[in-house]
Amino acid sequence: MVLDPGLVDWADQDLAAHTAVARARMVPQRELEELLADHVARLGVPVRRGVEVTALEDTGDGVLVATTAGPVRTGWLVGCDGGRSTVRRLTGIAFPGTDPELTGHLAVVDIADPEKLADGWTWSARGAYRCGPQPGRVATVEFGRAPADRTEPVTLDELQAVLRRVSGTDVTLTALRGAATRWSDNARQAAAYRSGRVLLAGDAAHVHSPFGGQGLNLGVGDAMNLGWKLGAVVAGWAPEGLLDTYDAERRPLGAWVLDWTRAQSGAMRGDAASAALRQVLADLLGTRDGATHAVKQISGVTQRVDLPGGHPPVGRCAPDLWLTDGSRLADHGHGGGFLLLDRTPDGTLARLAGAWSGRVTGLADAGGAGTGGGDAAPAGVLVRPDGVVAWACDTGRTADAAAGLEAALHRWAGAPSPSAGAR
Ligand SMILES: Cc1cc2nc3c(=O)[nH]c(=O)nc-3n(C[C@H](O)[C@H](O)[C@H](O)COP(=O)(O)OP(=O)(O)OC[C@H]3O[C@@H](n4cnc5c(N)ncnc54)[C@H](O)[C@@H]3O)c2cc1C
Repeated sequence: MVLDPGLVDWADQDLAAHTAVARARMVPQRELEELLADHVARLGVPVRRGVEVTALEDTGDGVLVATTAGPVRTGWLVGCDGGRSTVRRLTGIAFPGTDPELTGHLAVVDIADPEKLADGWTWSARGAYRCGPQPGRVATVEFGRAPADRTEPVTLDELQAVLRRVSGTDVTLTALRGAATRWSDNARQAAAYRSGRVLLAGDAAHVHSPFGGQGLNLGVGDAMNLGWKLGAVVAGWAPEGLLDTYDAERRPLGAWVLDWTRAQSGAMRGDAASAALRQVLADLLGTRDGATHAVKQISGVTQRVDLPGGHPPVGRCAPDLWLTDGSRLADHGHGGGFLLLDRTPDGTLARLAGAWSGRVTGLADAGGAGTGGGDAAPAGVLVRPDGVVAWACDTGRTADAAAGLEAALHRWAGAPSPSAGAR
């Protein structure tokens, strides 16, 4: 099932408020890793490659970590060590979920007789395969077969046997180009994202099939949510319980992705019921509403963290907001702090946030433009360092607005800075 961008209603309110979605593109993992590694290097964070974590002890005031390069003592430990996370296992965090029903393979190969295979996704009673879109790229899905030992590298013989089974042909593969991947639809979520001073993020916290390409995005979302909170705790200004909001905010999104991928596994089987379900789904995705709904779900524009405050953007990713100087609100967020956009004529809100200076950047922008979608922007918007709207109001002139902002600042940005002076 392929989404046709031409069908999507890009004028939809949620999509128009996030114009970047329409410009989304596939980023090869290698490029993304280089980009993140460069960023980390610019921040001066040392990366030690080839070092394995083998044991850990949470001592209450820190974590003692045994590694193949010797012991490390740290205040906090975040296990970002993948689906078979050692940190999760050593911490004793359960990983409940559903067992795999299929085994998938992905590889780029040389095929002696490609005419024996069809283009696009092709189903049989045993599973399905897809050739393309790049030359030699082959993806297979096979139901009812226990996944082989996933630590063993995928061989050319294994790939050929799988492809022959799911295609019902005697196709011959002659070479494997690059690393091949074997995966399953094992869908599990950590029972807790935090245990004392140990936290989990990325695949260590949740695994699922790669259908729909959501896994890495979900992990990056975890990192964005956790990063600033952990920074606040380490820097000593975190409000009470801030770290616990990580689990509360990220778990529902992880659970949603698990179900989104389970639904796709359900529609992938070779039986008649699944074939009929696929057709129903394909018909729905072939409509304007269906395609728009799917793009909104996959892009995350409809994701909402359950935060107090009834204003529509609260809990959502900050919309594109344009300032009078032509910049976007997001352009001001690279410093990693809070942003307060104040569009009141007298700058009351930005002045109030001055007591949190150093953590909150006030952007007084009286009469600024609306969202990328053309809607009127709220009069005041407080955006957390992870891009989530923490508070918003339509008019900043009332005492209620100031009180609401002050409560949100205390809740998320801690006590006012002593050095910031009187308000
Ligand atoms: C075939 C396939 C296609 C996919 N396509 C997409 C896609 O299109 N889009 C998308 O968003 N996601 C996709 N995903 C999912 C994505 O690859 C994962 O969600 C993502 O790589 C998880 O990142 P991570 O950093 O949490 O874990 P990993 O990528 O698993 O990284 C964990 C790291 O921890 C290290 N490690 C493990 N144990 C230890 C230890 N004891 N000590 C020290 N280090 C350790 C590992 O060596 C590894 O470097 C795909 C997955 C598969 C299998």
